[in-house]
Amino acid sequence: MMYNLKFTYYPHPTLREKSAPIQLKDGAPPEEILNLLRRMKRVCLEYDGIGLAAQQVGLVLPVAVVGRKIRRGEKGDIGDYKLIGVVNPKILAQSTEILWREEGCLSFPGLYFEVPRPAWIVVRAWFDDTKKVEDRRLEMMDARVAYHEIDHLSGILFIDRIDEVARAKIRKELKRIAREHPEQVPIEI
Ligand SMILES: [Zn+2]
Repeated sequence: MMYNLKFTYYPHPTLREKSAPIQLKDGAPPEEILNLLRRMKRVCLEYDGIGLAAQQVGLVLPVAVVGRKIRRGEKGDIGDYKLIGVVNPKILAQSTEILWREEGCLSFPGLYFEVPRPAWIVVRAWFDDTKKVEDRRLEMMDARVAYHEIDHLSGILFIDRIDEVARAKIRKELKRIAREHPEQVPIEI
């Protein structure tokens, strides 16, 4: 089975759908999900992103690609980031310390603004680099990227993480995106 991927731009309703966890078999996701993750990584590279959620390729599944900063001696997949596939990610804990940093989203081309996120989080997921379910503590940008993608899997977008005043400032940009981009574009990957 091959999933049909379509790149999904704001305000397509799929971006608002919430995925349910999928059943692992012998501790691993089914082959079609692994195949989907491989394709999503290629999409992420092609679109020049450091994260991608299933909703952004038109699928309501608990599957995402999350960039994490490379460590010493490592080679990045995209800039300084390595792309890790996650299935069924869940945030177990987060810092009370909140950091504001600029974020973008492939479903909102050209839109960047400061978003508050915890300085660190603990994520439980099946990770494709170790091929098992683990709890991982992620910090700084790694935490931010993972949080952003995990939000997507629940139908939450970065525009939901700011208040009314901040949102008023980007209203024009949202209109521009809706005007300039078709809501879905088939992906040949
Ligand atoms: Zn996004």
